[in-house]
Amino acid sequence: MSARILSGKEFATKIKEAAKEDALAFRDEYGFMPGLAVIIIGEDSASQVYVRNKNKACEELGFHSEMIALPADTSKDELLSRIDALNADKKISGILVQLPLPKALQPFEYDVLNRIDPMKDVDGFHPVNVGRLVTGQESLVPCTPAGCVRMLELADIPIDGANAVIIGRSNIVGKPMMSLLLKKSATVTVCHSHTKNLAEICRNADVLVAAIGKPLFVKADMVKPGATVIDVGINRIEPKKLVGDVDYDSVKEVAGAITPVPGGVGLLTIAMLMANTVKAAKLQAGRI
Ligand code: NAD
Repeated sequence: MSARILSGKEFATKIKEAAKEDALAFRDEYGFMPGLAVIIIGEDSASQVYVRNKNKACEELGFHSEMIALPADTSKDELLSRIDALNADKKISGILVQLPLPKALQPFEYDVLNRIDPMKDVDGFHPVNVGRLVTGQESLVPCTPAGCVRMLELADIPIDGANAVIIGRSNIVGKPMMSLLLKKSATVTVCHSHTKNLAEICRNADVLVAAIGKPLFVKADMVKPGATVIDVGINRIEPKKLVGDVDYDSVKEVAGAITPVPGGVGLLTIAMLMANTVKAAKLQAGRI
């Protein structure tokens, strides 16, 4: 039997509707809509698409939004002073610096991310937010894993007591996903490029998350029948063809539920960014 398709569009719509309702309630109380500032440095074309989509989502929900496009040769000091100005700007609830940074700025990535006020850190990359997440405190959580877990909840897929296996240990996806699933009482295994017996470990998963960056890496024989498979990967294999980290056509015949690529996790990420922007506004207002 073919798997239930977990449509990113369906769940992203629900997350955005809730974020909009929250934002309108915030506006009624404080007199302004939450605002998101996105800083993009350089000309990376994938980043430009992501930033445009973030802007569009703000417009759709009626959020204030500012896009700050800086040239690739922007200095570290100039970038930090832009962040300082946004930290001080009351209209701006959330600040996001689009990654990757241009080569010359990459050695300073942590200086840049750590400069963002933790209460405006809608990407959830600041060490204060990372620490709060790991210790189970209220925090701003990275959008991609937060969106995936919200989708599991909205789809009524059990997490408590489930065996969850995550392939990938990045700071952006794998590690925060581990903390979120642990917080929801899953038994979590994190695999990576040095893991032995990967297929065997994956076959034990009730929830399998692939965040690897390798096209079609997860095959049907790595998946337990009936498992939920979340494909975070976005891999461009031809100029106009995107695939995930999961071999969707074969895995959907074994899995119980699966996210497609495109049309899956990518949409949840942007929806969660909107939810995080409202959450940031409420944090700053002392409402959380
Ligand atoms: P990353 O490169 O930082 O991490 C990849 C991880 O995969 C590493 O921890 C590595 O150990 C592991 N890995 C690599 N080869 C492996 C192997 N053979 N076996 C087991 N593990 C292996 O990547 P990332 O930033 O976490 O992104 C992963 C994928 O998710 C990429 O395709 C990226 O484009 C995509 N992504 C999508 C979204 C979204 O919104 N949908 C957001 C972030 C990332």
